[in-house]
Amino acid sequence: MANASLVIGNWKMNGNAALTRSMTAALREQQEPTANVKVVVCPPFTLLGELTRHCYYDNIAVGAQNVNAHNNGAHTGEISLAMLQELGVEYVIVGHSERRAMYAEDNAAIAAKVTAVTAAGLTAVLCVGEDKEQRNNDQTWSVIEQQLSAACNELSRQQASKLVVAYEPVWAIGTGETATPEQAQQVHSKIRGWLKQQFDAVGDETEILYGGSVKADNAAELFAQQDIDGGLIGGASLKEQDFVAIVQAA
Ligand code: PGA
Repeated sequence: MANASLVIGNWKMNGNAALTRSMTAALREQQEPTANVKVVVCPPFTLLGELTRHCYYDNIAVGAQNVNAHNNGAHTGEISLAMLQELGVEYVIVGHSERRAMYAEDNAAIAAKVTAVTAAGLTAVLCVGEDKEQRNNDQTWSVIEQQLSAACNELSRQQASKLVVAYEPVWAIGTGETATPEQAQQVHSKIRGWLKQQFDAVGDETEILYGGSVKADNAAELFAQQDIDGGLIGGASLKEQDFVAIVQAA
């Protein structure tokens, strides 16, 4: 039996105003049977305002895919936390592997973002995960432990209560190659142990999501694993039917 509590859709650089309407309508229709699952939709910045207008249902929240850790000021082209808060954004994805790889976000930049987001009282969705070569070289846990330590070492317990960790093996993102439920659970239980050691009881409660080619037909068995508390969904979060089915599997 799945007992997941959080499903987040990451639209990446996709979507339009029409999708904000059709997606929230589709989610609203099935909200009742899955009232124990929180759903967060993370569209591009330009659609956040539009999405918020359609998200007045209890269990649907709005998230951003990135933020600048500085306060408002001379940062051409960037978006601050205050701007996101004004739009009603509650979640911010931090350290997605695409940002690490394509936009040179290093652990220090990611740590600054996690600190700023959680200090502001928003929830940071910290993405961690190994690439194929690291997995083949048995470096999976050392890579993830390093990413967790770098991003979270400075957090107070109160800030940690606003943290979600998403385990996203890089080799599974957008590839159709999902980690098996056993592979994912193995890493999730280590992440759980690390969080407990770092934050005691707070770490016990931290939601740990799996991400990487989650689809309607593999979500239930992933969500049934003990330490998998939900999913971070990319491609399948762009199709109403698929995303709703994944939420229902939670
Ligand atoms: P995917 O992406 O579901 O398309 O593999 C997941 C993610 O990048 O968060």
